[in-house]
Amino acid sequence: MSQSAPEYALAAHPANMGDARSSTRPVRVTPTLIIGGHDIVVAAGPCSVEGYDMLLASARHVQSAGGTLLRGGAFKPRTSPYAFQGLGEEGLLLLAAVREQTGMPIVTEVMDTRQVGRVAQIADVMQVGARNMQNFPLLAELGRSGKPVLLKRGASARISELLLAAEYIMANGNERVILCERGIRTFETITRNTLDISAIPVLKAETHLPVIVDPSHAGGRADLVLPLALAAIAAGADGLIVEVHPDPSVARSDADQQLTFAQFSDLMHSISLIATASNRSLRPQMPQLPPSVAPSIAAAASAESSVAASSHDTRRRAVAAA
Ligand code: PEP
Ligand code: MN
Repeated sequence: MSQSAPEYALAAHPANMGDARSSTRPVRVTPTLIIGGHDIVVAAGPCSVEGYDMLLASARHVQSAGGTLLRGGAFKPRTSPYAFQGLGEEGLLLLAAVREQTGMPIVTEVMDTRQVGRVAQIADVMQVGARNMQNFPLLAELGRSGKPVLLKRGASARISELLLAAEYIMANGNERVILCERGIRTFETITRNTLDISAIPVLKAETHLPVIVDPSHAGGRADLVLPLALAAIAAGADGLIVEVHPDPSVARSDADQQLTFAQFSDLMHSISLIATASNRSLRPQMPQLPPSVAPSIAAAASAESSVAASSHDTRRRAVAAA
């Protein structure tokens, strides 16, 4: 890639920069949060936003263990059209309500150009999932939105294709792109995907964009999250995005790979040791907003959430019966 004229320009690594990490250009997410600087940044939370109480409990635990951003999908890209598709707009309201309570910035997925405007009103970081990495109209729209974008590598995408996807966002006016290695599809079936550790140093060398790793979707198993996360930090990742659930056994999506709160605390402790050994640090960054309770939003969101949950169940039963 680097021997011929670069296929990508804006995402390219500036020449003559020496150490790859020190030449990463951090992406500013909020006035008090950057990704790609000295500190390792951890985003964590449930795979799907399922309701207010579980989301708030997850956020509070993640924050107390040293996590900085809250993750949670409102719009879920599911392989089966009959699987839980996320709470949609309702999920966005719940994320906003929990941010009000905790001050935690939010990362959530946007799947479609038609959702960009609305998700941008709520999200601090807009996630492009693996399945949409080459949805070029979506990438262009996110370029025009100007919000930070977490761009996940497609399961079958080459590193050069990931970089060209980043280029679509940047060429449309938005330089705030964070890359995410989340495992690729290989012949191996024991793990959900194969975490491409090599991608981390390669990306750090090829681009100035921050690189984070998702060990949850890579392994697809809770017991693999810790070793994959440690490997990622040791290999130079700028952060992690991890799935955590108050009770993974009842999760409405990705139950096998979500960590319990206790497992997440252990993970954070172990990561801090590797971070220190790598001359970095794992420091929770200060919340952007002073916690201000907004009981009316929270209560409304919670009530709508249980309605939404029961209508999903009804729909599921109808599909099962069909
Ligand atoms: C997710 O993070 O919720 C997700 C669906 O991940 P991926 O796009 O990497 O499969
Ligand atoms: Mn998931």
